[in-house]
Amino acid sequence: MARRPLQVALVTVTTAVALVPLILAAPGLAAASPASPASPASPASPAAALGPAGPWHCSAGAHTLAQPGSRMYPETGNGGYISLHTVVHLVYDARANRFARGNHVILTDRATQCLTSFSLDLERRSADTTAGPDLTVGAVTVNGRPASFRFVQPTYPGDPRGQNDPSPLAHEASQLNPVGGPLHNPLPPACTPELTSTSAARQNSENGTQCPANKLVITPRKAIPGGSRFTVSVSYTGRPGVHHDGDGTTEGWFRSSDGGFVTTEPVGTEDWMPLNDYPAAKPTYDFYDTVGAGETAVANGVLDSRTALRPDAQFPRGSVTWHWHSRAPIASYLVEDSIGKYHLTERTAAGGIRYYEAQDTSISAKQQQLNLAIMDRQEDITRFESQFSGPFPFTSDGVIIGTPPASFEEEMQTMIAFADGVIDTDTLYHENMHQWWGDHVSESGYAMTFYKEGLATLGEFLYAARRAQTAAGGPGTAAGRAAFQASLVHQFNALYASGSGFWAAAPSNPTPYDLFNEDPTYARPGITYIALRQILGAGNFSRALRQIQRQYGGRSITEPELEAAFRQWLPNPSAACGAQLSRFFAQWFDTAYPRGGGTSRPAITGPGLAGPGFYDVAGCTRG
Ligand SMILES: [Zn+2]
Repeated sequence: MARRPLQVALVTVTTAVALVPLILAAPGLAAASPASPASPASPASPAAALGPAGPWHCSAGAHTLAQPGSRMYPETGNGGYISLHTVVHLVYDARANRFARGNHVILTDRATQCLTSFSLDLERRSADTTAGPDLTVGAVTVNGRPASFRFVQPTYPGDPRGQNDPSPLAHEASQLNPVGGPLHNPLPPACTPELTSTSAARQNSENGTQCPANKLVITPRKAIPGGSRFTVSVSYTGRPGVHHDGDGTTEGWFRSSDGGFVTTEPVGTEDWMPLNDYPAAKPTYDFYDTVGAGETAVANGVLDSRTALRPDAQFPRGSVTWHWHSRAPIASYLVEDSIGKYHLTERTAAGGIRYYEAQDTSISAKQQQLNLAIMDRQEDITRFESQFSGPFPFTSDGVIIGTPPASFEEEMQTMIAFADGVIDTDTLYHENMHQWWGDHVSESGYAMTFYKEGLATLGEFLYAARRAQTAAGGPGTAAGRAAFQASLVHQFNALYASGSGFWAAAPSNPTPYDLFNEDPTYARPGITYIALRQILGAGNFSRALRQIQRQYGGRSITEPELEAAFRQWLPNPSAACGAQLSRFFAQWFDTAYPRGGGTSRPAITGPGLAGPGFYDVAGCTRG
């Protein structure tokens, strides 16, 4: 994701969402009654996962994939199964901005335990009553048989009293752990609050409020055996919309003049479809979008077919079903599915990669020409970034430019979304770099956002270095290569000199409000990778990146796994250098420093950079 420099004005919310706790009970009463043996087991309890009587014991799947104590969107993700494949069948009335009868998704999952029930994420109504969703679930089936369903509030991850804890305190929103708020709730948060203002002064204003009931809990007629594949079909209709996230910006399904435009990071996908809404949950996808004749559906992967349908009651002028297919798994926030009057072209490059370009036809002809000149550079950018990150991981790549003024551009997998009718080259380098970093190798959770934003920021630094190289004579010249290197060193040194609050937040420990802050999530990890390139050497740095792509591609990576992968490519493999690299990561990724810079910043840098460097005469003896 790349933030726009100016935030758009946010709508005023006039009506709060009605929030109903699972079971209304006074906290004191609830505390006196321990969870009964019949209540669903805690997801945090290993005994519950296997069951007291062995693996044949059945229980409810966890309603979260977040770790106990997490303050980063702890309401998202669902356990007890793995998401394998999702078929999206949108039936979309673009004029009314509504999903019509027949609209449904079919999710194929594999149970990792015997399941009495399991959950999905779906926000039917958000804090935004105007542009937010207004969705209704009509029916749910499991393996083709009707299943019962209900919406419940999330519970804080690891609640020892189970995820149906009767205490309202177990279902409260907060930016912080513990929740705090007016009642000084000592428990961890169950969800991240929806902020309707981007003001820093308002970031804790919703702490202690009740979380909305966005967990769609599905109970099949018979328990689902552990290890088995099962399919879930959810039929739903109504208006898709946007969500206000933990920093007050909006994401999800944006209304355009002629349809909808989708950018969703971090959690807005559940505002237009039910899913396992967590970055590490990565099913493959098929999209069968039925839209009015003359309208275009733009999704991830490759366009497989377009089928014209006769006029019917829903589409009196006829309709078209667009089939897009992604054989690559897609993380929750990277699912693209925009519908409207888009001009779409496709072209297969020499290397076999298919490139798509889509623009909303309501963008002026002049601007469309300017946009096209930049979109046409995507193949060249992909080739350039492949030199560092390794072979492009997907069979297609593309850009969609929509008109709504969303507050950010986003690296939707193989279909990068640009908002507000405009694209720019620097941001295209950033989002295209994400195709390797974030998309192919996803972050294991929201707190790892810095990992992929840092590498995408490195993509921008590499673009600046490329420009310097071209100006100095090109990549084939010694002067060009020197200019490339000098540009990266200059970039590092300029940001390493930062003072004030630049070092004040640890990149790996964000709050929802700070998740997309420039300094800790973009710039600081961005120059961390420049330092790593100096420590490992340019060749080994790229070898490490390629190894991570091979080892974790199609999946997600944790911070220890990321650091271990770089450690393997230290030119000096001594224990002392390995320990030095661990200290380097702890300083750069995990440490919050007092404001000011100077001595209040990472002390370990890299060879040839400002700061004390990494190696000494003996190798890595410095403590
Ligand atoms: Zn980004």
